[in-house]
Amino acid sequence: MSDSLDTAAKPIKKPKRVLPERFKSYKGVWVFIEHEHGHVHPVSWELLGKGRELADKLGVELAGVLLGGMGEAVRELAAEVGAYGAELCYLARHPVLEDYRNQPYTTGLTELVDTYQPEILLLGATTQGRDLAGSVATTLLTGLTADCTGLDIDPSDRSLLSSRPTFGGSLMCTIVNLATRPQMATVRPRVMTMPARRPDRPLRVVEHGLQLDESAVVTKVLDFVPDVRADKPQLPFADFIVAGGRGLAKPENFTLVTRLASTIGAEVGASRPAVHAGWADVERQVGQSGKTVRPKLYIAAGISGAVQHRVGMEGADVIAGINLDPRAPIFDFANYALIGSAAELLPALERAFARRLAEARARRAQAAEETV
Ligand SMILES: Cc1cc2nc3c(=O)[nH]c(=O)nc-3n(C[C@H](O)[C@H](O)[C@H](O)COP(=O)(O)OP(=O)(O)OC[C@H]3O[C@@H](n4cnc5c(N)ncnc54)[C@H](O)[C@@H]3O)c2cc1C
Repeated sequence: MSDSLDTAAKPIKKPKRVLPERFKSYKGVWVFIEHEHGHVHPVSWELLGKGRELADKLGVELAGVLLGGMGEAVRELAAEVGAYGAELCYLARHPVLEDYRNQPYTTGLTELVDTYQPEILLLGATTQGRDLAGSVATTLLTGLTADCTGLDIDPSDRSLLSSRPTFGGSLMCTIVNLATRPQMATVRPRVMTMPARRPDRPLRVVEHGLQLDESAVVTKVLDFVPDVRADKPQLPFADFIVAGGRGLAKPENFTLVTRLASTIGAEVGASRPAVHAGWADVERQVGQSGKTVRPKLYIAAGISGAVQHRVGMEGADVIAGINLDPRAPIFDFANYALIGSAAELLPALERAFARRLAEARARRAQAAEETV
């Protein structure tokens, strides 16, 4: 089930378009490495994992692209690019690139593309990645497929097959860029599997000098204010999620979701109607217009399993659906079907988990006493 999100299908019929001669020399798969204050966004490593697969299918090199300020920290991140599977890292450092701003990053990335000519360029569908991908694609006059859920290669002509939901999520479409290079795509965090980190992999670093001028940049960074809200949900990276939907019927029942989540140390998720009803914050919405998650366990209570919800959570290792209706769509892809009222099953699950956790704690305490 964990790879089910990443299913780029071959288009049934493709119009014949010949790639213009000037793009035929474009080779290699690139991943833009997004970082802030020394921390790389995990989606960049996930994309290196997928990029490795695409590069191997094409028989070309995989490169990470790092832009940043003059500090050593950026150079140190380059080594990580190798650890996550790239054989090459393009590194462009300049004081103007210290903090992310659209204008100089667009100038820098488009210059790198024009110079080294990759055939594929992938970015995370994060706030920064979406901002940068749009302006780079526009500047390069190339195609960009946003928010892809699957990427693959068409072996017949080496083109990138970018799949994503369309028509409000009721259909999946596969988009192919037949006429320009690079072929660009953004992918949300947690859609692709995180590759294993192997620090011993060899890596070549190509340092590229950029001519940038601070006075030409219209936006100025005055201060950096980190988002320190302690209660900010970290849904995409949670191992356990208990989510509630419209079937819970009232806010008091949604608190049963919160209580089970707190007992087992899980994050709380919600379907769109539950968010619209005001039972959960919008940051907790899972699905096409919410977050994509990939937990070890996803408990969905009073959620029908509509495709727009499913695309956000079907990458979970184990899915348990709680629903009154045995024919609810969630049971088409859940690993466990708990058929009954969520108002009864959620407290029953909470009691069962609390009992098992207490027993486990008691066993650990006894074992610790015996070793003293
Ligand atoms: C463009 C677009 C984007 C969208 N994006 C999202 C998105 O990001 N996330 C999202 O979730 N939706 C999204 N939707 C909405 C989506 O289509 C569904 O309407 C929504 O997911 C349904 O939410 P639900 O399962 O909570 O409610 P329903 O579909 O109403 O399902 C409620 C379920 O609860 C069950 N039930 C009823 N009573 C009980 C009970 N006592 N105990 C247990 N089960 C019970 C019912 O049998 C039913 O299966 C989007 C729609 C569109 C058009």
